[in-house]
Amino acid sequence: MGAIDFTTLRHPFLNGADKKMLIDGEWRAARSGRTFASLDPADESVLAHVAEGDAEDVDLAVAAARRAFDEGPWRTFKPYQRQQCLLKLADLFEAHFEELAWLDSLDMGGPVSRILVNGRRVPERLRYYAGMAVAMHGETIENSVKGNVFSCTVKEPVGVVGAIIPWNNPIGASMWKIGPALATGCTVVLKPAEEASLSCLRLGELIQEAGVPPGVVNIVTGYGETAGAALSRHPDVDKLSFTGSHLTGQKIVQASAGNLKRLALELGGKSPDIVFADADLDAAVPGAAMAIFANSGQICSAGSRLFVERAIYDEFVERVAGYGRGLRVGRGTDPDTQIGPLVSRQQVDRVTGYLDIGAREGARIVSGGSRLTHGPYADGYFVPPTVFADVRDDMRICREEIFGPVVCAIPFDSEREVIARANATPFGLGSGVWTKDVGRALRLGRALRTGSVWVNCYQLMDPAMPFGGYKMSGYGRESGLQQIEEYLQVKGLWINAGDSP
Ligand code: NAP
Ligand code: MG
Repeated sequence: MGAIDFTTLRHPFLNGADKKMLIDGEWRAARSGRTFASLDPADESVLAHVAEGDAEDVDLAVAAARRAFDEGPWRTFKPYQRQQCLLKLADLFEAHFEELAWLDSLDMGGPVSRILVNGRRVPERLRYYAGMAVAMHGETIENSVKGNVFSCTVKEPVGVVGAIIPWNNPIGASMWKIGPALATGCTVVLKPAEEASLSCLRLGELIQEAGVPPGVVNIVTGYGETAGAALSRHPDVDKLSFTGSHLTGQKIVQASAGNLKRLALELGGKSPDIVFADADLDAAVPGAAMAIFANSGQICSAGSRLFVERAIYDEFVERVAGYGRGLRVGRGTDPDTQIGPLVSRQQVDRVTGYLDIGAREGARIVSGGSRLTHGPYADGYFVPPTVFADVRDDMRICREEIFGPVVCAIPFDSEREVIARANATPFGLGSGVWTKDVGRALRLGRALRTGSVWVNCYQLMDPAMPFGGYKMSGYGRESGLQQIEEYLQVKGLWINAGDSP
């Protein structure tokens, strides 16, 4: 496909046909025959009708994944062959990248300009996993038991993996779970978010084209309360990797108890972004603004609590607000858009609810503050970049995850004080520090209780760097060696070699 005109063409995947689920290498309707509508958040139009899978479909998908793991050709795939699948998938992803980005933008509203930049990380990540496929190994371990006994560890795939993802980055989140599964030899049942399933289904086609055998990757679309819950309690799922809210994460922990399946939980946050007066403000203003406004704030590690040293507080807050006012709000598929609509009616209600709460709590609105409803925004879920100033730590807008383009700006006076206040949250996903003082950067890098700390930058990611949460932002890591290990079992193998000759 040549360069795509995102604004005028109909997407080739949206051809009017109902979208089916991928189970055991076949595209199937839900057993119940039910479908749900996938909507465009820019105008509530129906993009496609998608199979509404439920517990029965999850059973079929898990059975297929189990067969593929226990009996199928996948079991005999050498690491090199799994590597080839991942490399082929990375190539296919790149070849179809614009089409995938466009589909995500249509379905979840994110600016296509942003997806086209960030999505480039996905093939990079798949190639990292391809490298890991041939780099895993156990160890020979000297023991002190009596006799001539040899001991070593063997790394084995954990088995059938359930993967449940949110809607804010479908092409990225899905590959973040399928990639390590393919690298390690696991099989997968993916449950995408109901609000944005389409690109995952298109990726399912590419996964087949990459030569991944039937049953190795299954995709069941449907609702969390039915399909997602069935997957998380399923007795034949060995590991569940979940990305989403902490409230759903808690349900998943309970549901997992039946067979004590292994869990990885990538949950939400209320991440502090801390600006000291000595920082390079020309870098910190756009850095802090996009730490929260990017993807309309629908990023788990968004810098939603902006702590600013008092000496520069008024100036800095005004500059961030000004930066927000200058961002172009529009339909995600318009290449000039910088801030797209929120994903759904539910999400726009939730975010505007917090705008009201903030105003009632006495926070001062510096920019934005209410939903856009005029002209081209009338039918969509548009909320402009919003800055609340004079926010107190005890306000709900400062304690709860809003998951919208809404930042709480809070003044502080000392390093010691800001560390304590930044850490005074049940969450611990990301944090930012803006300073030219190397000693301070190191002190805060240690003191902040978050899975990632970004100094003079925000939200940087790399396939080799582990990402995940402290505290109620979850446990387990994605990317890096840690993630690969979480898809593996370690077996201790003992061999009594008999008496020495
Ligand atoms: P969510 O409501 O928790 O949903 C996430 C996924 O879980 C969806 O696929 C959802 O299905 C499913 N689900 C809902 N109820 C379920 C249940 N009882 N059992 C099993 N699955 C269930 O989260 P969201 O609103 O979509 O996403 C936003 C949240 O994700 C935020 O809290 C954000 O911080 C977090 N997040 C975290 C990361 C990270 O890496 N740490 C990354 C991105 C987002 P349906 O929605 O289709 O019904
Ligand atoms: Mg949608």
